[in-house]
Amino acid sequence: MVEKVVIIGSGPAGWTAAIYAARANLQPVIYEGALTEDNRLKGTLPLGQLNLTTEVENFPGFPEGVNGPELMMKMREQAERYGTRIVTDDVVSLDLKKRPFTLKTLGGDSIEAHALIISTGASANYIGLESEEKYKNRGVSACAVCDGALPRFRNKPLIVVGGGDSAAEEGHYLTKFASAVHLVHRRDSMSKASKIMADRLLSHAKVKPVWDSVVEEVLGEEEKGVTAVRVKNVKTGQTQLIEATGVFVAIGHTPNTKFLAGQIELDAKGFIVLKDPARTTTSVEGVFAAGDVADPIYKQAITAAGTGCKAALDAERWLAEKHL
Ligand code: NAP
Repeated sequence: MVEKVVIIGSGPAGWTAAIYAARANLQPVIYEGALTEDNRLKGTLPLGQLNLTTEVENFPGFPEGVNGPELMMKMREQAERYGTRIVTDDVVSLDLKKRPFTLKTLGGDSIEAHALIISTGASANYIGLESEEKYKNRGVSACAVCDGALPRFRNKPLIVVGGGDSAAEEGHYLTKFASAVHLVHRRDSMSKASKIMADRLLSHAKVKPVWDSVVEEVLGEEEKGVTAVRVKNVKTGQTQLIEATGVFVAIGHTPNTKFLAGQIELDAKGFIVLKDPARTTTSVEGVFAAGDVADPIYKQAITAAGTGCKAALDAERWLAEKHL
């Protein structure tokens, strides 16, 4: 049997695509990801990046805020309610060179599909320290916009790691809450950031750059979470302790597109290239992309959900045109 629409990935983009596709009677199947240790370590378990956060305060409709994992479960329930078939498995390889498309899963299944919606998201890069892993969700975050306003960060010194636009944006965002923002960067300038964003950050009274430095260890206590970081100057070798209740890692995101290599056009950073930026069409006819996997700019849950809706509508129209 050939499926009409298969959706790969289960963040806000995937579930929104599923809700729309199910309500359009396309009987979508969603591959939400496999529950493996490997996925846990990579941050690619089912339900996407929101499932890795605590309180979400910027998703419209929840004036009191909503718990990230709870929001994702509700999206999943909504998709299921309208008839989406959910498979808890990863798509590990696919053949997009002939139609119908063929997909292979980690569990060893083989599926055929007329249309595909790829919404596998992106995973935040972390430094890779054991102590960083230990304090994730207890002071270590890779998303200032998601977590910055939480009580533990208010009027407290915070650390931002990185020197690109993400660090500039996240650092500036955090000045709203923090008593001080220490920007720890391994170079002596924010050479990867746009000048306007770097200047805006560095001219802020609360921002204190710590140049030529890397975080060696995140320090904390079982109850309190993060309390400080030890940073090392890469030029002099000297170390110093900086007190902080939060460490925001802003060293880039990596889109989850490794399994697509050679099948579809990706940009230099691995994001799926949209054929028309206003649509969700890709270099392969019948394959649509939604959410962070094709978004190097906004990377928000609400924008992902919006493009999930667009992808389902694009797929529905394409299937109708092809009489599939
Ligand atoms: P990026 O431009 O790749 O910058 C990553 C930064 O992290 C670099 O300064 C890099 O240092 C540093 N870094 C990388 N790995 C590191 C490690 N292991 N340890 C310590 N530091 C490390 O990534 P980004 O800032 O996330 O931006 C990605 C894209 O999104 C860019 O095109 C950016 O313009 C765009 N963006 C735009 C906006 C906006 O316009 N509002 C906001 C955010 C992002 P080096 O300099 O040494 O490589």
